[in-house]
Amino acid sequence: MKTEKVDVLVIGAGPAGTVAASIIHQAGYSVKIVEKLKFPRFVIGESLLPRCMEALSEAKFVDAPEQRGYQKKYGAKFVKGEAICDFTFQNQFTDGWKWTWQVPRADFDTTLANTVQEMGVPVEFETTVTAIRFNGSDSVTTVEDINGNQKEIEARFIVDGSGYGRVIPKLFNLEKESVLQPRKALFAHTVDVNRHMDAEPNRITAVVHKKAPGSGSSHSLRVLHHLVSSAILLSLKDLKVPMKKSTVRCSRPNLLPRNVSVV
Ligand SMILES: Cc1cc2nc3c(=O)[nH]c(=O)nc-3n(C[C@H](O)[C@H](O)[C@H](O)COP(=O)(O)OP(=O)(O)OC[C@H]3O[C@@H](n4cnc5c(N)ncnc54)[C@H](O)[C@@H]3O)c2cc1C
Repeated sequence: MKTEKVDVLVIGAGPAGTVAASIIHQAGYSVKIVEKLKFPRFVIGESLLPRCMEALSEAKFVDAPEQRGYQKKYGAKFVKGEAICDFTFQNQFTDGWKWTWQVPRADFDTTLANTVQEMGVPVEFETTVTAIRFNGSDSVTTVEDINGNQKEIEARFIVDGSGYGRVIPKLFNLEKESVLQPRKALFAHTVDVNRHMDAEPNRITAVVHKKAPGSGSSHSLRVLHHLVSSAILLSLKDLKVPMKKSTVRCSRPNLLPRNVSVV
């Protein structure tokens, strides 16, 4: 079987994998990313925090996303009943970024993957990690491309950036059951035709629903132009009514920000 050698092998080309690979590359080590899918690919999770900007900055990943024109986000609003807490990221006790982006992940992740490749880090798409074995202090990883061709990659270190793939925990039986209450997430992208353009749209909004205390919340914000991202988290016991794939319902539409046009 064909064998390659690198200092560090990164599994997954999501933000975790590409940020890690960029920083390792800048430190002078040889690094390679293997990614199971072809990009762009859909992933949920568009809301960055200002703290994320520190990692993106260290990875030299600020200029390329800036050029993509993602929406800048300046704060967060939490709504529970009649109570509203409105935070802006500028109100800080320590130094740090005062804004971040809300990103369409397929485009954002592709932008970071393109940027890391331009830096000189190879990314092999449609290549899946199927096995890892440790050889003294080194590792040998078996990968397989979509045509079924296998090869081995020897690496001194492995970074598992496989997200929900959980490659190392699965391969080495390290998975543990969560102690948290199991929840389901329903999410949708909707087109907002009635957006008003004052400061409010640049907030993420979280709504705690009274009928599902401790478990129900939703948030929404434009991710690009008129696209709004909404998610509802529910404990399994509250998830009784089957919902159509394209339907978003809310029992208290008045609690949603004015910029959400679908209820
Ligand atoms: C409803 C919902 C809302 C969310 N909202 C937010 C949010 O607002 N903000 C936020 O920060 N997060 C949010 N998240 C979480 C977010 O989706 C993840 O935390 C984030 O995508 C993790 O990024 P990552 O780079 O670690 O992994 P990913 O982006 O998942 O990338 C991992 C990559 O590894 C690849 N991979 C998997 N297995 C293999 C393999 N065997 N070999 C090679 N490659 C492999 C995958 O194809 C994938 O591209 C949300 C999650 C849910 C469910």
